[in-house]
Amino acid sequence: MPILKIVLNPNPSLREIAAEVSQSEIKNGSLKQTIVDMVETMFAKDGVGLAAPQVSIAKRLIIVNTKQGALAMINPTLSKLSFGQEWDEEGCLSLPHTFGKVKRHKSIRCEFITEQGDKKKIEAKGLLARIIQHEIDHLDGILFIDKAKDITENTYNL
Ligand code: ZN
Repeated sequence: MPILKIVLNPNPSLREIAAEVSQSEIKNGSLKQTIVDMVETMFAKDGVGLAAPQVSIAKRLIIVNTKQGALAMINPTLSKLSFGQEWDEEGCLSLPHTFGKVKRHKSIRCEFITEQGDKKKIEAKGLLARIIQHEIDHLDGILFIDKAKDITENTYNL
């Protein structure tokens, strides 16, 4: 199982609007190996989330790390956003040494399709809500540095 190559900023792939995954792609199982590889890549790189455009796949697919393990979300959409927002630090596997504070909704509802093709929705708050918002931004070509304040570049090898 290969670890996928993560594209780094600035790379035009990170700025594309990713395409919806079609019903036939879900039914014919062509994404299954991609999902396995993305999960493996996320864990290998100590990430908490990974969006398909970060591995040069321009499709609306994200992996997020939850307490129950890695969750693949196909065509995710935010359907409910809390009024309350909060700032917290974020990083990104495509910007390995950059960190900054980003304002995100404290809680969200996200509707998506599972790799089995089932429609599902989850309510998330705190860190998981933040990860989902960050990863969905990737599908629209948005990076956290577009929204961040107090950006720092840590170039030390720790
Ligand atoms: Zn990211």
